[in-house]
Amino acid sequence: MPSSSSGRTVIIGAGIAGVSAAGALRSAGHDGEIVLLGHEPELPYRRPPVSKEIIRGEKAADEIRIKKPEWYETQAITLRTGVTVESIDTTAHTVYLAEGEDVAYDQVLIATGGRARSPWTASGIRTLRTLADVPQLQAELAAGTSIIVVGAGLIGSEIAASARGLGCEVTLLETAALPLPRLLPPELGQMYVDLHKSEGTDLHTSVTVESITDENGQNVVRADDGRSWSAQVVVVAVGMVPNVELAEAAGIEIATANDGGGIAVDAHGRTSAPDVFAAGDVANLPNAVLGGRHRVEHWQGAQNHGTSVGKNMATVETPFVEVPWCWSDQYAHTLQVTGWPLATHELVVRGSLADHDFCAYLLEDGVVRGAVAMGRPGDVRTARGWIAEHARLDEVLT
Ligand SMILES: Cc1cc2nc3c(=O)[nH]c(=O)nc-3n(C[C@H](O)[C@H](O)[C@H](O)COP(=O)(O)OP(=O)(O)OC[C@H]3O[C@@H](n4cnc5c(N)ncnc54)[C@H](O)[C@@H]3O)c2cc1C
Repeated sequence: MPSSSSGRTVIIGAGIAGVSAAGALRSAGHDGEIVLLGHEPELPYRRPPVSKEIIRGEKAADEIRIKKPEWYETQAITLRTGVTVESIDTTAHTVYLAEGEDVAYDQVLIATGGRARSPWTASGIRTLRTLADVPQLQAELAAGTSIIVVGAGLIGSEIAASARGLGCEVTLLETAALPLPRLLPPELGQMYVDLHKSEGTDLHTSVTVESITDENGQNVVRADDGRSWSAQVVVVAVGMVPNVELAEAAGIEIATANDGGGIAVDAHGRTSAPDVFAAGDVANLPNAVLGGRHRVEHWQGAQNHGTSVGKNMATVETPFVEVPWCWSDQYAHTLQVTGWPLATHELVVRGSLADHDFCAYLLEDGVVRGAVAMGRPGDVRTARGWIAEHARLDEVLT
């Protein structure tokens, strides 16, 4: 049992996991103090629009807030933005702020998410994770500007599509043989090759970037096989690094890289230290459906995990069981992915890939392990249930 459903709960990180946990603590009856500490100076916001409507200038920051300012007041949640937790003393039950203040806690939640990974350091390199990254990149993405996006994963592909929408000349470079390699089986990766091509994005796959240098005002990207590309702007989108350093320094167990890294938690969000919980992108949790452990980097997962752990901190003891689900908007199309699709899975497609209207089921020995779809949200919802039930496709698909 958590130590208290009253007392002071400190939440480190005011992203969707932290905000959801704060709300869930209150609605589950926690009547003590809730202090939400966020490094970003912003009122908490929804991150997914950053690579879509925000970078394209279609929405302003105030249109993507997670909650209105008054919500924090009515919920009696003390939101402090622009403060950074520097360390946690799990024996003294205290967090220390970089601003020189100590905050004692009865329970603490680490919801520190992650940061953009960038193995290169040239001054012209841009990454996109926060609203603070937007103004400079947005100013550079004028029509006719040449841009190289390194990494055709979820965020890189979205940035490429957004930049094309703004009239930029876009080159997209990917190490794997096909785009979205962590999410899509080869047939569907090929569909994205065709989509990028038809939208005028110059996609190159099987590219291992060796260096990025700033040469006379142009960014030059060189691959290990001698190929090179140059552009006015380079955006590196090669994944994120979970912010585990606080936990690591406090002696809290970190999951192995093989399991996906992150702070190891149990099904209730507890870490290896007493009264310390973790949630969202930074947490590595038991996979209640397939066994083993995993770390998820999707919006809805972070939201629901934050909610679940918040409830558990308020003494409602419910293990977190969820089949991952995410979406990605590229050009005019929304992709939805659920479960744990692997390149080795058997693929059964209903609908038409060419028309971008399909649901593809991914099977392991006939059992549904994942689904990928465009234009068929109902099918994805249904498939999500089948994945949770370990259903055989030939028994459920009529
Ligand atoms: C550009 C972009 C587009 C995306 N699009 C999609 C999408 O279309 N679909 C989808 O499913 N997912 C998408 N995602 C992923 C999704 O946004 C994340 O899974 C989600 O934001 C994770 O939430 P979180 O609260 O766990 O972490 P985060 O959102 O990373 O929030 C953690 C917060 O903690 C703060 N913090 C860190 N360390 C400290 C500290 N020491 N002290 C105080 N505060 C600290 C950070 O500054 C940050 O504000 C996207 C992500 C990005 C970056």
